[in-house]
Amino acid sequence: MSEALPLEIHKSSIAPGEDEVVKIPVGQLPSGNPIRIEAHVFRAEAPGPALLVMAGIHGDEINGVEIVRRALQNGRFAELQKGSVVAIPLVNVYGFVNRSREVPDGKDINRSFPGSSRGSLASRLANALAKKVLPGVDIILDYHTGGANLYNYPQIRYSKGDERSEELAKVFGAPFSVAKAPIQKSFRKIALEYGKPALIFEGGESQRYDAASIEYGLAGLDRLLSYLGMVPGEAAGQPYLRQHFSHQSWVRSPKAGLFLWEKSSGDQVEKGEEIGWINDPYGSKDSKAVKASHTGCIIGHSNAAVVNQGDALFHIAYE
Ligand SMILES: [Zn+2]
Repeated sequence: MSEALPLEIHKSSIAPGEDEVVKIPVGQLPSGNPIRIEAHVFRAEAPGPALLVMAGIHGDEINGVEIVRRALQNGRFAELQKGSVVAIPLVNVYGFVNRSREVPDGKDINRSFPGSSRGSLASRLANALAKKVLPGVDIILDYHTGGANLYNYPQIRYSKGDERSEELAKVFGAPFSVAKAPIQKSFRKIALEYGKPALIFEGGESQRYDAASIEYGLAGLDRLLSYLGMVPGEAAGQPYLRQHFSHQSWVRSPKAGLFLWEKSSGDQVEKGEEIGWINDPYGSKDSKAVKASHTGCIIGHSNAAVVNQGDALFHIAYE
C-alpha cells in the first residue's frame, strides 16, 4: 500500500487514519464456539508501507504470541506517522488451545500455503491468510519460537537471494541472521512469490517464555518501524546483528541415552569439537561424545534429557 487507499482485510475496508479490529472467521470448535483470527489494523493518514506483524501460526510457539501481544498492549502501533500495521498475535487458535504446533488433524498451517477454502483445516487457515490478509500488506514479520525441547537462539531467517528481506533483516538486528531457501508451501514462500519481503523471527522454546527472545523480538520491531519511517525518531538500542550465515546443519545423536550439552546456543564451535555427551543411564558403558559437524555458531540446541539415536541435538550455522 504505497497509496493512501483503503486497506482491505477480509471484508473490511479501513480508511487512512482509522484503526479497526477485523475478525476473520476460520471455523468452530466441536462445541460450536466460533474460531476467528483477530487482525488489529492501524492506519496513519499519510501513505507508507503496510507491515504485517503476526505470530502463533504454530499454536504452541508462545514467545511470538507474547511479543505481538506486548507490542499491542504497549501501544507501539497507536501513533503511526505513515503507513499501516496489521497485527495478528495468534493465527492458530486451535493449536494454542491444544498446546500444539499443528491444528487438531496434525497438519501444519505453515506447510499448507496457499491452501484452499474447501481443504483441510490447516489448508483453510492458510487460505484465509493468503487471500484475506496477504494482498493488503507489503512486508511480513512472522514471529516463531523453537520446538518442544528445542531452543532457538534469537535469529531472523529470510529467503536466500531476496535483497529487500536481507536489508530488513540487517535493520531488525537479531543476534543471528540466516539466509535459507524457501520451504515448500510455507508462508515465506508464498510471500516471496508475491514479491513481498518476509522476515521470520525465531527465539526460545515452545510453551516457555524466554525473556531474551521477547526483548530481541520487540527491539527488532522498533528498529524496523523506525527505519521504515512509520514511527517518529530513532529506535533505542543498536542492532545486535552478530553474525550472518548462509548454511546450516543439524548434529544428530550418535546413539540413544542421556544427553548432556556442553556447548549451547550462541556458542562458537570448531569442527570436530566435543560439544555434548550421550551417557549410559546405567553408568556401565563409556560416554559417547557429540562432535560439531562444522566450524560456526550453535543457533539452536536440544534441552531433551533422554534422546534416541538420530534425534536433533545441535543446529549449527556456518559460512
Ligand atoms: Zn514455528
